[in-house]
Amino acid sequence: MDQTPADWRHAEPLGERTNPMIDPFGRAVTYLRVSVTDRCDFRCTYCMAENMTFLPKKDLLTLEELDRLCSAFIAKGVRKLRLTGGEPLVRKNIMHLVRGLSRHIGQGLDELTLTTNGSQLARHAQELADCGVRRINVSLDTLDPDKFKNITRWGEFDKVMEGIRAAQAAGIRIKLNAVALKDFNEHEIPDLLRFAHGEGMDLTLIETMPMGETGEDRTDQYLPLSKVRKMLEEQFTLDDIPYRTGGPARYVEIRETGGRLGFITPLTHNFCESCNRVRLTCTGTLYMCLGQDDAADLRTALRASDDDAFLSAAIDEAISRKPKGHDFIIDRAHRKPAVARHMSVTGG
Ligand code: SAM
Ligand code: SF4
Repeated sequence: MDQTPADWRHAEPLGERTNPMIDPFGRAVTYLRVSVTDRCDFRCTYCMAENMTFLPKKDLLTLEELDRLCSAFIAKGVRKLRLTGGEPLVRKNIMHLVRGLSRHIGQGLDELTLTTNGSQLARHAQELADCGVRRINVSLDTLDPDKFKNITRWGEFDKVMEGIRAAQAAGIRIKLNAVALKDFNEHEIPDLLRFAHGEGMDLTLIETMPMGETGEDRTDQYLPLSKVRKMLEEQFTLDDIPYRTGGPARYVEIRETGGRLGFITPLTHNFCESCNRVRLTCTGTLYMCLGQDDAADLRTALRASDDDAFLSAAIDEAISRKPKGHDFIIDRAHRKPAVARHMSVTGG
């Protein structure tokens, strides 16, 4: 966070770059995830405490500033952009940002997508499709409406299903994300799998990560996916496949359903060696790693000058500090979060 405008002045102007951003470990940074708000209409127990304090609205970047920052990253080689949060679709006028960013699709940007809890999807699905959004991730941890209420605290299962249907009707492909939680959805995963694949959707399972205080003990929630895989192998035939979506998931194909199942295993298998991403918060802080505290303040660079060269140099400086990886551990000796911020701040 210690760049000065004097350092930024020597930057190459945006748009004249042809090379991607390369970090100190030789990884090309081509994927930007943007948490457009830290707010959410759910309070999932593994993600947030029920009485969360959110950022004052005045601290947020405007939608125009977010557009300028995202466009700067695209000019510097980012090819995939994911809007997330908090819940991205609760940010006021979010479709204004989506519409604006859609101008980059096919002009440097390969994909504009989002991760959502689905609660507001029914009313936005068609416009998202019209903006060129082809695939989205929807988080769904259970198919049981009562359990859904328990895990999300405030969510309504039927609304999410309505959102999923609307996105499907608009021609958007959906991948379901489910956090694997001990004693919660452990025994429901085969049903989730059959449901997703029956609807033509991929399913990705995620290990719970130690981010932010939630008022819950994560050792009680943590379910290693190695265990889930063994359990699934008793019912299904899992074939490892080289399919990748530019993320950390490792995929198998389920022979019985013909569908894909992804595993995101930050705890049992560290996926950092192929990390291609950085994460921007709604206040303009850039986190170069989900599991580390080091960050760069891009808001100051953004507001210091209308000349994007400042911004470009601040981004370069940040990328030069991208760490090798995270240090997540969950066991009885490590009950504290690895990082104090919640997943909703950095964007999961
Ligand atoms: N609200 C949107 C949603 O739920 O899809 C987007 C933001 S949410 C932070 C993104 C993803 O992170 C969700 O799939 C959620 O299940 C996951 N997530 C949240 N907290 C997590 C944690 N501590 N460990 C693992 N995954 C987490
Ligand atoms: Fe909200 Fe998503 Fe976190 Fe659930 S996981 S509380 S929906 S941000």
